[in-house]
Amino acid sequence: MREWKAPNPVRLHASLRPGALACVDLSTGRRWTYAELDDAVGKAASVLSSDVHAVARGERIAAVARNSADFIILQQAAMRLGAIFVPINWRLSTMEQEQILLDCKPSLIFTDADASQISVKGARALAMADFIAAVAQAKPKTAWPTISADAPAVLLYTSGTSGHPKGVMLSARNMFATAVNFGVLGEVSQESVFLCDTPMFHVIGLVTSIQAPFLQGATVLISGGFDPVATNDRLADAAFAVTHYFCVPQMADALRKAENFHPERWASLKALFTGGAPNPPANIRWWLDRNILMVDGYGMSEAGTLLGMPLDRAIIAEKAGSVGLPPPDMSLRIVAENGVDAEAGEVGEVLVCGPNVSAGYWACPDENARAFTEDGWLRTGDLARADADGYVTVVDRRKDLFISGGENVYPAEVEAALREHPSVSEAAVVGIPDERWGEVGRAYVVLHGGATAQAVDLAAHCSALIARFKVPKEFVLIDALPRNGAGKILKRELRQLALGKNQEPDRIA
Ligand code: ATP
Ligand code: MG
Repeated sequence: MREWKAPNPVRLHASLRPGALACVDLSTGRRWTYAELDDAVGKAASVLSSDVHAVARGERIAAVARNSADFIILQQAAMRLGAIFVPINWRLSTMEQEQILLDCKPSLIFTDADASQISVKGARALAMADFIAAVAQAKPKTAWPTISADAPAVLLYTSGTSGHPKGVMLSARNMFATAVNFGVLGEVSQESVFLCDTPMFHVIGLVTSIQAPFLQGATVLISGGFDPVATNDRLADAAFAVTHYFCVPQMADALRKAENFHPERWASLKALFTGGAPNPPANIRWWLDRNILMVDGYGMSEAGTLLGMPLDRAIIAEKAGSVGLPPPDMSLRIVAENGVDAEAGEVGEVLVCGPNVSAGYWACPDENARAFTEDGWLRTGDLARADADGYVTVVDRRKDLFISGGENVYPAEVEAALREHPSVSEAAVVGIPDERWGEVGRAYVVLHGGATAQAVDLAAHCSALIARFKVPKEFVLIDALPRNGAGKILKRELRQLALGKNQEPDRIA
C-alpha cells in the first residue's frame, strides 16, 4: 500500500504566513505567530528526542494537564516525532487515571499537578513547567523522521459514558480529515478566531477547536478552562473578535445564566457550536430568538465531526434539533433494524466511513470487532433519522433505548419534551422494568431554583407533546444529575439508582 506523509499545517503556515497569529495563551497572555509556534514545536521535539528522554516512534506520551499553549506544543512535537500523544482527563480520580495509564503504558507522563504523586510502572512523570523551561533553552530540531499519515498520532480516550473509556487511535490523517470537514461546515478561514476552553482531552477541544483552525492558518485563543463569566467577557471583547466558539450544551446553559450575559455584544461570533450531547430544539430556538446562531453538530472521539448544520441553514427554525448534513469527506449510512438503509424518517444506527474514522481502539479486540466492520465502516452505536432533505436528527444512544408495550422509546426525545416545561432545568429518562408494559420510563428531573412541579403536571405536559407510551410513569425530583468528567449524564448510574429503589418516585396511574 502507498504510504502518505503526515500533513503538517503549522509548518506550512510558518512558511506561507510566518507573522500570522497562531495562538494566544489567555492564562499568561503569551502569543505565538505561526513562525514562533513552529520554532517552539521544533524545540520541544528536540527536548523529547534528546538523550534525556529519547522518545521514539510509537512510544506513548501522556499529558494530565489543563488547557494551555504548552499542551498543544507538546502534542505537535510528539506528532512530528511519530510518538503517540495521550491527553488524559485531569478531572478523573487517581484510580481512573491509573486505569488509562496502565492501558496505554506511556514512557513519559507530563502533568501540571504534582509529578511526584504520579507513579506508574515503566513511566516517568515530569512537571510540564520543567519541560517548558527545557524547551526555552533548546535548539530547534532540524532533521525530522518521515511520519506516516496513517500511524497513530493521538490516543483519545472516550468519555466513558456507556462503560469504561476506550483509547481511540487517531492518525494525522484522521485529524486532518476532521479539520477539513469541520472547516467546510463551519466556514473556517484564515481570518477565523477560535476560543477554545473545551478540554483538550476530548475531541471537540483537541481536534475540532485546534486542528481545524491550524489547517487554515487561523488563530486559536486558549483558555485554561471554562468559566462562564470569563467566556462571556471574551465573546464580547472586540479586541479578541472571536468568530468560532465550541461548547457542550451544558456550557451554553451556564453562559446564559452568567450575570454578564450580553449576547448582543458578541458582534464577531459566526456561530455558537454545540456537540457531544443532545441539545433540545427548545434550547436552540431560545438562542436563535436572541440572534445567536446556535449550530448543533454530532461527533465522537472515534471519528471527529460526523454531521454539522451548515451555517446558512442553521437559521431555519424548523430544522432546530437536527445535527445537519454529513461533511464532504465522509460517507454516512443510517441502517434500520433489518440491516437495510433506513427510509426518510425511519430510525436506524449511524454508520460512517472515511478518512476521519479511526483505525480502532487501543488494545480492545472485542470492542474493535463490534464497532468496526471489515469493509471500513464504524458502527457508532447511536440512533438517528434523516428527513426528506437529508437533515439528520440524533435520536439517542442505542444502549439507552427501552421498549414499553412493544414500542421503542428514545429517552432523549422525552427529555427534550420535559425541557420545554417552564419549571424544568434538566431531565434524564431511563427505562425500568414494569410488569405490565415490560419497561416504563422513569424521569429524573432537576427544577429551576424556586420552581415546583408534580408528576401529574409533568406527565400532562409531556402528553401534549409526545405519544402516551413515551410519557414517563415515574418522576423523581433530584438536585443534580450524575455526570462524568466530560459533563455527560451517566444513565447507567441512574438505572442503578432506579433498580436500587432507594428513592420513592412520584408515580402516575
Ligand atoms: P463512551 O464511548 O466511553 O461511552 P462517549 O460516547 O460519551 O463515551 P465521546 O466520544 O466523547 O464519548 O462522545 C461521543 C458521543 O456523544 C456520540 O457517540 C453520541 O452518543 C454523543 N453525541 C455527540 N454529539 C451529539 C449531539 N449533537 N447530539 C446527541 N448526542 C451527541
Ligand atoms: Mg462512545
